[in-house]
Amino acid sequence: MAARTPESVLKQVFGYDRFRGFQRDVIEHVVAGGDALVLMPTGGGKSLCYQIPALLRPGVAVVESPLIALMQDQVAALEELGVRAALLNSTLSAGEAAAVERQMRAGELDLVYIAPERLLTERCQNLLAGCALALFAIDEAHCVSQWGHDFRPEYGQLSLLRERWPQVPRIALTATADAPTRGEIAEKLLAEPRVFVASFDRPNIRYRVVEKREPREQLLRFIRAEREGEAGIVYCLARATVEQVAAHLAAEGIAALPYHAGLPADERKRAQQRFKGEDGIVIVATIAFGMGIDKPDVRFVAHLDMPKSVEGYFQETGRAGRDGLPADAWMAYGLQDVVQQRRLIELSDADEAYKRLSTAKLDSMLALAEAADCRRVRLLGYFGEESQACGNCDNCLAPPRLWDATEAAQKLLSCIYRCQQAGGFGFAATHVIDVLRGKVTDKTTKFHHDKLSTFGIGADLSEADWRTLLRQLVAQHLVEVDHDKFNVLRRTEASRAVLRGERRIAMRHSVVPEKPARKRKAAATAAPALSAGQQPLFDRLRDWRAQVAAEHGVPAYVVFHDATLRAIAELKPQSLVALAGISGLGERKLARYGADLLRIVGSA
Ligand code: ADP
Ligand code: ZN
Repeated sequence: MAARTPESVLKQVFGYDRFRGFQRDVIEHVVAGGDALVLMPTGGGKSLCYQIPALLRPGVAVVESPLIALMQDQVAALEELGVRAALLNSTLSAGEAAAVERQMRAGELDLVYIAPERLLTERCQNLLAGCALALFAIDEAHCVSQWGHDFRPEYGQLSLLRERWPQVPRIALTATADAPTRGEIAEKLLAEPRVFVASFDRPNIRYRVVEKREPREQLLRFIRAEREGEAGIVYCLARATVEQVAAHLAAEGIAALPYHAGLPADERKRAQQRFKGEDGIVIVATIAFGMGIDKPDVRFVAHLDMPKSVEGYFQETGRAGRDGLPADAWMAYGLQDVVQQRRLIELSDADEAYKRLSTAKLDSMLALAEAADCRRVRLLGYFGEESQACGNCDNCLAPPRLWDATEAAQKLLSCIYRCQQAGGFGFAATHVIDVLRGKVTDKTTKFHHDKLSTFGIGADLSEADWRTLLRQLVAQHLVEVDHDKFNVLRRTEASRAVLRGERRIAMRHSVVPEKPARKRKAAATAAPALSAGQQPLFDRLRDWRAQVAAEHGVPAYVVFHDATLRAIAELKPQSLVALAGISGLGERKLARYGADLLRIVGSA
C-alpha cells in the first residue's frame, strides 16, 4: 500500500478535496508528535484536525469530550466512513466494554472516545498503559477553565495525561477564544504547544436584526418566506415563551418542538432525537439547548430575546450552517430586551465587580443590535479581528438611512422630565410618547398633561420612531426604565450632555424593510436555488437518505450532507468515477451507496 498522506486520507476516507484553513498544518504538526492548541469557530472543522492524525499515526487515538451524545454521533459518523472507532463509557454493558478494551489492546481501533471521568480511573489508566497510543485529543478544551461557564472539574485533572505519557502528542480544541482561557488550556493540558488561531468569521451566516413588534408573527413570516421546511433553532429567554412560541408555530403547520430544562427528560431527549434525525424540525428552546448539537444542516438560528453577551450571540448563531451552505441568524430586538437584561443583572446576587462586567458585556451586545454599519465587522471586531464590510448582513444588504435625532432626543428627555414634575413619580414609555405626539387620552387629561409645554411637540414622528429613539437612549444609558415602578422612565446624569447639545444622537429610520433580502439581492455566498429539473432529484435523494439513516439508526447527515446531495442533483453523475469527484463521497460511501445513487440519478 502506498504511504498515506493527509491529502490521501482526506479524499479517500472523508471524500473531501481540500483542507480548510490551517487544518493541514495542524495535522502535520500532530503527526510529527507535537502538542497543538486549536481555536476555530463552531463548524470550522476541528474534528479532522485529530481524526486524520489518528489514522496516520500508529496506535489508538484517545478522544475526550464532555458530552456522551456528541461522542456517540462522532463514532456513528466515523463508522459510516469505515473508520475503526468506538466509544467507551457508562452506557456500555460490561461485556461490550470488555470487547472494546480487547480491540484497543490488539491495535484494532483507530479512535476511542472516552468520557473524562472514566479516563481518570485507575482501571482505564492501566488499560491505556497496555495500548499503543497515537495521540490524545481534548475537545471542548475550554471546559478546563475555572472561570468559564462550562467548567468541568474532571477536565482539570486531565493534566495527568501529560505527566504519565509525555511522549504522546496532545491536541486541545475549542471555539472559545479569549486569551485567559487559552492560557489556562495550554498550561494545564499541553507542553509547548503550537497555537493555531482561525478566523472566527462564518461567511455563510447572514446576520439580521429586526425591530421587535409582534415577535411570533415576525418569526412566522421569516420562516415562511425564507426557511419553510428547514431545520432551525429559535431561542427564547423564558420557558413560558418557549412553550407559547412552539405551540404557535405548530398550530401554523411548522414542525416545531419545545425544549427547556423544565420539561421531562424523556421529552427533551425525544425532541433532540427528532431534531437530529429528521429533516426540517424547528426547536424552540432556552439556551439549555445547543451544547452537544453538531448537526451540520441547521439552516437558521432565530433569537426572540436578545442574548446577554456577544459571546453568547456568537456561540448560539454559530450553530447555524456548519456545513458551509447559506444560513440565517435572525434576531428580533426591542426596548423590552434592554430593560429585561439590565434587570437580570441587577437582581442577580453576584458581586459588584461581576455586575459591572456583565453590564459591559451587555452594552457590547446592545451596540451590535443597534449598529447601523456592518454587523460582521462589529462581531469580529469584538473578538479582536479586523475585517471589511461583508455584503451578507442586513446593514450591508440594505444600508439604513440615518438622521440626526439630537433635537428629537432633547424633546423626549424634556418630556420625560415635564411629565414627572407634573404627575408624581413619573410615567412609562406609552404615556410619554402620547404626550409628545399630542394624543389626548384619559391619562393625559387626568394629569393635565395636555397643558404641558411638551404636549404635541413631537407630532412629526411616528410612535414607532419614538420607540426606536427611546430604545437607543436606554441602550446608551441616557434614560433608565424603573422596572420596580411600572417601567417609569427617568433621565440619567449622562443625558445632560445631550440636552446641552454636546452629545449627538444618530438614529436609523424605524421602518426596517422585512422583505426577504435573499430574494432581492443574492449575496456572493448564497447558494443559487436548484432548478426545476434538479429539485425533484434532490428531494428523491433526501427521501432515500432518510430511509438509509433510519435503517442504520443514525441521523440523516451522517449518511450524506445536504451539500453532497445538492451537488449530485446538479451534476447528475453517470458513473462511479464521476460520483467520486463529488465532495463528501469517500471510498467507503462510494462502495456502499454508489450503485444506489447512480440508480436514483439514472431514473430521474
Ligand atoms: P467543529 O467541530 O469545528 O464545529 P466539525 O469538525 O464538526 O466542526 O466540522 C464541521 C463540518 O465541516 C463537518 O460536517 C465536516 O464534515 C465539514 N468539514 C470539515 N473539514 C472539511 C473540509 N476540509 N472539506 C469539507 N468539509 C469539511
Ligand atoms: Zn455586513
